[in-house]
Amino acid sequence: SNTSPPDPSTMEAPKKKIAVMTSGGDSQGMNGVVRAVVRMAIHMGCDPYCVYEGYEGLVQGGKYIRRMGWNDVRGYLSEGGTLIGTARCMAFYERPGRLTAAKNMILNGIDAIIICGGDGSLTGADKFRAEWPSLVEELVSTGQLTKAQVEPFRHLNIVGLVGSIDNDLTGTDATIGAYSALARICEMVDYIEATASSHSRAFVIEVMGRHCGWLALMAGLATGADFIFIPEKPREDNWKEEMCQVIQKHRDWGKRKTIVIIAEGANDRFGNKITPDMVKDLLADKKGLALDTRITTLGHVQRGGTAVAYDRMLATLQGVEAVKAVLEAGPETETCFIAINENKIVRKPLMAAVQETKKVAKAIEAQEFDKAMALRDTEFSDQYNSYMMTTSMGVSEDIHLPAEKRMKIGFINVGAPAGGMNAAIRAGVAYCRSRGHEPISINNGFAGFARHHGDEPLGAVRSFDWLEVDGWASKGGSEIGTNRELPEESGIEHIANLIKKYKFDALFLIGGFEAFHSISQLRKARDRFPSLCIPLTLLPATISNNVPGSEYSLGSDTCLNELVAYCDKIKQSASATRRRVFVIETQGGRSGYVAVLAGLGVGASAVYVPEEGISLEMLNADVKHLKDVFQKDKGQSRAGRLILVNEKASRTYSAKLIADIIREEAHDRFEARDSIPGHVQQGGVPSAMDRCRAVRLAIRCIQHLETYGPKSYDNPDSIRENPLSASVIGIKGASVVFSAMKDLEETETDWKNRRPMTAHWLNLKTTVDILGGRPDYPLPE
Ligand code: ATP
Repeated sequence: SNTSPPDPSTMEAPKKKIAVMTSGGDSQGMNGVVRAVVRMAIHMGCDPYCVYEGYEGLVQGGKYIRRMGWNDVRGYLSEGGTLIGTARCMAFYERPGRLTAAKNMILNGIDAIIICGGDGSLTGADKFRAEWPSLVEELVSTGQLTKAQVEPFRHLNIVGLVGSIDNDLTGTDATIGAYSALARICEMVDYIEATASSHSRAFVIEVMGRHCGWLALMAGLATGADFIFIPEKPREDNWKEEMCQVIQKHRDWGKRKTIVIIAEGANDRFGNKITPDMVKDLLADKKGLALDTRITTLGHVQRGGTAVAYDRMLATLQGVEAVKAVLEAGPETETCFIAINENKIVRKPLMAAVQETKKVAKAIEAQEFDKAMALRDTEFSDQYNSYMMTTSMGVSEDIHLPAEKRMKIGFINVGAPAGGMNAAIRAGVAYCRSRGHEPISINNGFAGFARHHGDEPLGAVRSFDWLEVDGWASKGGSEIGTNRELPEESGIEHIANLIKKYKFDALFLIGGFEAFHSISQLRKARDRFPSLCIPLTLLPATISNNVPGSEYSLGSDTCLNELVAYCDKIKQSASATRRRVFVIETQGGRSGYVAVLAGLGVGASAVYVPEEGISLEMLNADVKHLKDVFQKDKGQSRAGRLILVNEKASRTYSAKLIADIIREEAHDRFEARDSIPGHVQQGGVPSAMDRCRAVRLAIRCIQHLETYGPKSYDNPDSIRENPLSASVIGIKGASVVFSAMKDLEETETDWKNRRPMTAHWLNLKTTVDILGGRPDYPLPE
């Protein structure tokens, strides 16, 4: 890695001045943006500035535009809201306001500005950019600035970052803050569910989103809410009857709680607002239901708290990308904003995105709802369909398959538990039921299957009890039980015979590397056992995120959130005693993914991963760096220092040993401690992201299995020859794809280290090192 800033003495041109600003409604993660931009700008040899209070600061100028130093943004990642302030600025809507803003930028010599805000802020940015040449012209013609003064600023260099809890900007899957707000909502709904269930009550919960139903939709999906209302897709004209019918059905199954989620901008098809009060009255007054109903309006708690791990990652990577974008932009470059598509950070034209976003609001206003849905990203309509399929179950008989196409599908967990496993099973079961398939639970992995397969009450093979499964949306652990044993250990012939005995048409596996290995074994045994010639698919679920075929596995987000929360607390303690370094050991097997991503989320001073190993030279460089830092910092800084070390990064240098070495070398000038969070990392309640992705990916898996139809074992050769009949679903770059096991086994798997051949995330470590100010260090041979 090359992390040292360019040597200023060898540079001729004056340093570029790059400003960063947060605008519009605050959102979690904005501080991460400011930190990333400031430090990356310094790293690239530029001078960073902050514009305080959004556009108001740009219009006011003076003390609102401030030069920033490396240490000014220390600790920013773990703070909620935006520390540089934000405001709604009336003046900026008008040309004279923008003229003053342009003048202030030029007077301060700002070469480029990175603006983080919602669609309003980015609309303002776009307008500013379009008007810029005429604003500059006017400043000269009115004598406010000279030609020479404006000459270096002929082109406005601007880059947008989308910071908003609404997730309402077209072209990006997630806005900075959206997943944090969603996490907050889910937390609150989880709390409410307990009391709702206790009293057998109904709760109507209003969430934010004037033109965008993302929060309401995803919260409905993650919590298994009974009914949702979103602006883009109003319910049918008879929504009152429909809602009461669905809820009645759920109650008839024995559900003791009812949750309805309403986006604040929800309307009926005619543009009349649907209020929580209306829903409450319906549920309370409807004959037969007469539910004791309460309303909860979540309001500003949704903006509260610190950013979840995902938003810290997004803020950091997009902030870094924004700095690169402004430095690469020439006069002809189209103004861009930074987006994320699935797992890929990309630059996209700003103007088009702003215009597309405006179209959604217009389509809703014109009651063109299909258009509004189509204008949202594909994930949105995907997830809407997922929601409908998993909750209106039994109500929509029309998506049942004809009898000869229905399948018996075995569900099995393999490996350690991971957040989202239960949500995936719930979604898979619900989808199966809405299609007429028969989902069957195989309890306790292959070990359970092999040894407790009888039809006795404790047998491993059971049908699902829907009422029980319905409560699994938010449950951690593995409700059907999981086990690490591989089919070959259980006896592959035995397993093949059991699959035959129960006439399984397909198997749906959810688990980590062991699950991957299991499918590989089953696939290879197909030549000998025709009963294994059925479609097999894996949904990766492991905190280690080390399954070949996917850049993301269920549970890794939950783990990251646990780790980041843990590190925040440790860091606070380290800061209170000031001169202390904590060395934290993370799980992950031989994959450094969680260590690096957690490092990105907390701003680690160093991260040690198995992919690189640890050498004495590395330790030496890091210890020396810490000494320098503590020497310069006379104890006034707010944040402690963290080093993250993966459990298998080195056979010798454990967290404890590293802490001991640092302490020894520090000679009492500072302290070092080790700390091991252990199984806390598997998480209690799964994260909102893991829950939502579980639903989407599980449904895709069953849909994939469904394409093979029942009784594939009657045509074993066609299955053997079909590469995707043994597959892994995954997020790869910007898309969700199925990969053939055979290809993955042969070309993408590092079997010895139980991880993919290439670590897609390893380059992120460079970002952690740069932003943590880590010096260059030699890698072990
Ligand atoms: P959110 O909706 O997520 O809270 P936002 O960025 O959309 O965030 P707005 O209040 O719409 O929030 O916009 C923030 C600021 O951006 C406004 O106060 C104004 O200064 C500027 N702005 C918004 N729209 C425009 C516009 N059309 N022209 C010029 N400036 C604008």
